[in-house]
Amino acid sequence: MYTITIRHWEAMTKINIISFNTLTFSEKSARRFFLDFCWKNHQRYCPACKNRKLYHLADGRRRCGRCGYTFHDFSRRYLSRCAFTSRQWLWFLKLFALDIAPASIAAEMEVSYATILKAADTVRRAIVAQALDAGRLYDAGIWPGPGNPLPTQEIVNAPVFGIIELGGVAICDLLPDLRAENLLHFKLNFCLKTASVGQVVYTAPYKQYLALVSCGSGLWPARYIKHADKRLPVEASPFWSFAKQRLRQMRGVPASHFPLYLKECELRYNSRNEDLIPVLAQALCAFVPRPDA
Ligand SMILES: [Zn+2]
Repeated sequence: MYTITIRHWEAMTKINIISFNTLTFSEKSARRFFLDFCWKNHQRYCPACKNRKLYHLADGRRRCGRCGYTFHDFSRRYLSRCAFTSRQWLWFLKLFALDIAPASIAAEMEVSYATILKAADTVRRAIVAQALDAGRLYDAGIWPGPGNPLPTQEIVNAPVFGIIELGGVAICDLLPDLRAENLLHFKLNFCLKTASVGQVVYTAPYKQYLALVSCGSGLWPARYIKHADKRLPVEASPFWSFAKQRLRQMRGVPASHFPLYLKECELRYNSRNEDLIPVLAQALCAFVPRPDA
């Protein structure tokens, strides 16, 4: 009999290829891995009203004794999007963590390219939900995930983020009082230095921030406007070197997705000495926030 001995993952636990093999050995073992992140001590409660009095239904689901909400173990969580099995999610996380191109992941997993893009989008939104400034990101028009109405307006200019790097930890802080146009105004009227990587514009230090960063057409109003200043202090930041390289590879980041990519960079950088699989699994097992509900 095959028993799973590796349980209750700490953030620092490294899942080597042998233990990964154990996790993906069966759908049951993979599912148990995710369930540990979903329910503390296996204690189920209603995702809608948190009530613990539940009825078992014949199909394996549960029904809340108070509000009548019917749910399964992954209801309302990020990992219920994409209709992946737990094994598929684990393999996806492994390949995503290794930065394999979406087309290659699709080929390896024999699922459509669109599904892989959706899975990657789901992981990024799950990362955003864990961020301290998640509420501000949702206020800025970022869609939290399934269960929320889709934004009615396309984001033309991404919000402005301030970058801080302290003791090897990067923070990309959404600054709700600043807009992309403000960066341009600071540049033209106050000589704030700016540089770019693709469409993404970043600046010289501003207040307590090493740089401001944003992206969108509002930063490129005319051909004569260039963001090409050299030797900005942020260039010395290991986080920014890391983020810049990733942003360069992405070629043409849409403004609406820029915050998701930036938060992914932040998490990858800050988790660089950890195994990403449990970090991402934990995010994926969280309930999708419903800020407007
Ligand atoms: Zn309920």
